[in-house]
Amino acid sequence: MADKSAFLAYLDESLRGIEAEGLLKREREIAGAQGVRVRMGGREMLNLCANNYLGLADDPRLIAAAEAAMAGHGYGMASVRFICGTQDLHRALEARIARFLGKEDAILFAACFDANGGLFEPLLGAEDAIISDSLNHASIIDGVRLSKARRYRYANSDMDDLETQLKAARAGGARFVMIATDGVFSMDGYLAKLPEITALAERHGAMVMVDDCHATGFMGPEGRGTPAHFGVEVDILTGTLGKALGGALGGYVAGPRAVVEVLRQRARPYLFSNALPPAVVGAGLAALDIVEGANDLRARLFENARYWRAGLAEAGFTLLAGEHPIVPVMLGEAGLAQAMAAELALRGVHVAGFFFPVVPKGAARIRTQMNARLGRDDLDFGLEAFRAAGRATGVLA
Ligand SMILES: *Cc1c(COP(=O)(O)O)cnc(C)c1O
Repeated sequence: MADKSAFLAYLDESLRGIEAEGLLKREREIAGAQGVRVRMGGREMLNLCANNYLGLADDPRLIAAAEAAMAGHGYGMASVRFICGTQDLHRALEARIARFLGKEDAILFAACFDANGGLFEPLLGAEDAIISDSLNHASIIDGVRLSKARRYRYANSDMDDLETQLKAARAGGARFVMIATDGVFSMDGYLAKLPEITALAERHGAMVMVDDCHATGFMGPEGRGTPAHFGVEVDILTGTLGKALGGALGGYVAGPRAVVEVLRQRARPYLFSNALPPAVVGAGLAALDIVEGANDLRARLFENARYWRAGLAEAGFTLLAGEHPIVPVMLGEAGLAQAMAAELALRGVHVAGFFFPVVPKGAARIRTQMNARLGRDDLDFGLEAFRAAGRATGVLA
């Protein structure tokens, strides 16, 4: 049996391998709050890589709501929900999320990773089938793996393949069939084809689960997400408080009362993990109040996305088409994405390069993300930095 020092040497070697492939991720420290401008390494940087779509992550109203909740309800819960960790605030936020999304009820988790991780196993058994988009978030993939249901996978947004898998699940004698998809595929900013997916589900007697992490709060009327954007109904929605809804943490499942109640009885990340702290829950309630009335922020977010896309395209960058505030700049090789990110950092712009295994080999990119609080001057500053960095790296002539 190998000893501990051999084990640690083995880990060091895998880390060297990751670094040699140019795939090592280095975390850069922000001093101060998350915002449009952040302080990093003693410099002020324009931040174009947060999921802070509505700019609420440092909003004074959310900070005040968090402080008030903490003053009235304490700091921590020191309990899971079912023992003694449920406050009036938790139930109020669950009801508020359900109402916002037009669902019967909702249940909070520590994160959407836990919501997706805990969703499938209690609901579906070995007689059932889950049909999952090949580009779904890692948490859906893990959640599906943890369930005993038979697994089918369809190529990303390929509706012919989805129908093939639906037929295969039915031919295999599945009792219940659930289609699982991201509402927005986060590396590309592409929307799931919910009108086609819900029509196919209807035709083949399947249910639809949508993870709307990159949509809730800003896509669709009042920010109710991708189903509202398309004007369709889905059975189960999962989402996060960690992106547009204030950006702290916390996840949820919203859907029929029976689904939520079974999850309360059986979902393992719910039963065996601590209740969300009052500050996060109180601020989550305030975030939904802000979001419902935030047509101005949503308009600015999408206007920023249009301006930013047009500016990058005019400069000569290759983008993925779309309207979503995720705007990926396609660069090809991982090294080029990293060189571009480094050149942008020199020019005061903070972005992240994405490369294998997060995106396919040869499809490395810089994923920029818009924020409603970015001003025209910020975007012009960012575009100038992209043009200069593009020339410095040879991406632009
Ligand atoms: C961010 C994200 C998650 C995870 O959300 P957390 O609340 O941060 O755990 C899950 N699914 C999708 C599609 C996401 O983008």
